[in-house]
Amino acid sequence: MTTARRSARPAITDATWRDLARAAERVRKHAHAPYSKYRVGAALLTSRGVVSGCNVENAAYPLCICAEASAVASAVSQGYTRWKAIAVATEGPEAGAPCGACRQILAEFGTDLPVGLVVAGKVLRVVTVAELLPFAFDGKILAESTAPKAARAVTKKAR
Ligand SMILES: [Zn+2]
Repeated sequence: MTTARRSARPAITDATWRDLARAAERVRKHAHAPYSKYRVGAALLTSRGVVSGCNVENAAYPLCICAEASAVASAVSQGYTRWKAIAVATEGPEAGAPCGACRQILAEFGTDLPVGLVVAGKVLRVVTVAELLPFAFDGKILAESTAPKAARAVTKKAR
């Protein structure tokens, strides 16, 4: 397992990654993937335990929900927006990384989040959201761009 540790976040122990990987693998079995047959499970480690989600496909393909988005929506719904890590379990043999949309969804809550890529219940690789989505679009960019002109001038001057 490759561990990318480049932030101030506390390190995730191997035992915790194992538990998180198992949780992602467990929820993967609940995936509704009758079209792609590509089942994905995601497990977010919150301050109060694990919140998970699976992919939910739809006959109207654009309505499909990814496992990561499902887990994020569930965690946020339960009041958890600060996470320690996420494990994403895919079919294999290669570890599947979150899609572009999910990278953006995860980036909304912090780009230093470690993402464990899991196959068969084992973490094959750990990367950060920043590594998956460099130069992410974020709320700061939006705030600066939509601030009143006077505030923008002050922000510009301060740089
Ligand atoms: Zn996705």
